[in-house]
Amino acid sequence: MEESLLKSLYVKAKENSLYGRYISMAHLIPLLKKFPVTFQWEIIGKTVLNKPIYAVRIGKGAKKVLMWSQMHGNESTTTKAVFDLLNALKFSGEADIASLLDSCTLVFIPMLNPDGAEVYTRENANGIDLNRDAQALSQPESIALRKLYDYFKPDYCFNLHGQRTIFSAGKTATPATLSFLAPAQDNASSLTKNRKIAMEIISEVTKQIQKSIPNQVGIYDDSFNINCVGDTFQSLGTPTILVEAGHYKNDYQREVTRELVFQALLLSLDYITTNSVNGTKYQPYYDIPKNEKLFYDIIIHNASVNNEKKDIAIQFQEKLVKGKIEFSPKIERIENTLSGYFAHREINANGNPVFTPKNESVFEGYENDFVMINNEKISLKVT
Ligand SMILES: [Zn+2]
Repeated sequence: MEESLLKSLYVKAKENSLYGRYISMAHLIPLLKKFPVTFQWEIIGKTVLNKPIYAVRIGKGAKKVLMWSQMHGNESTTTKAVFDLLNALKFSGEADIASLLDSCTLVFIPMLNPDGAEVYTRENANGIDLNRDAQALSQPESIALRKLYDYFKPDYCFNLHGQRTIFSAGKTATPATLSFLAPAQDNASSLTKNRKIAMEIISEVTKQIQKSIPNQVGIYDDSFNINCVGDTFQSLGTPTILVEAGHYKNDYQREVTRELVFQALLLSLDYITTNSVNGTKYQPYYDIPKNEKLFYDIIIHNASVNNEKKDIAIQFQEKLVKGKIEFSPKIERIENTLSGYFAHREINANGNPVFTPKNESVFEGYENDFVMINNEKISLKVT
């Protein structure tokens, strides 16, 4: 698919009613209700708190693709991208979209964990991480996904998540704005055919996406855990791709990342449409750098803390306040040096003491919107 088409489709298709980090089922229901009749939606199960879980089906082709988003309630970026993508699929006047819908049958679960989304938690209402429940199937949300998987028998699965700001793409000063993984399906990380197919799609999409965000794509941690949904579906023989929406500089609302996820999903579907993917072109997957945990949100360099020279690492705590996510700065580490680490924002204290507003030295765990450096109030808030 041409880059110009990707861009113009996004402009036309972006779902403007969805913005920022807090996306709950209340935001989605009006959108589901106004889909055209060719978008068939149904209730595939109920949550712990008895809320419906929806799936949307579109297309009539032989290649079956299943995508689910927001299995972790506080990971909303891919949900925004799914609605942008659904809107783009309305433009069947575009030859590429028409052939996609002729070749593929797509099923989306836009929000697998509405209870968690409502209160902005990773876990469901029982406090269970659904991405560790793929074998036990102890939760109604896990059962709904598994039933749909068993019934639909997808040829490809996309497991859509969001990742924290801490990840770099390799040992570099660039954040992992997108990360992918072809999950392992056994302890030996065997290169099965379905895994190679997932790797080939990731390779192709990364090649395209890297043109707009060079060095900002990583491979997520690939240690095998059969309790994870991706690992389970891969082990059942379905090529499965994990997509992680990450940080782009100054984009704490993840609106830039949202467009990149949209591109990645559409490029994946386009590749599946226009190729009989057999996994032979999986090798470039190994050239993609691995995620490393090298970033903090803020580092204050050359600080004086209790009369010692220190670097101070700050990480934002995400809090749901009146329907919005607030980012509360918290001191995570105070070290002699944090060289080797990077930050999305760097502050140089020039050897001055860093104090709380009460003139105490700052300490690990201290949480406030600002600190005092050289009698000046320095805001740590997201701008
Ligand atoms: Zn997740």
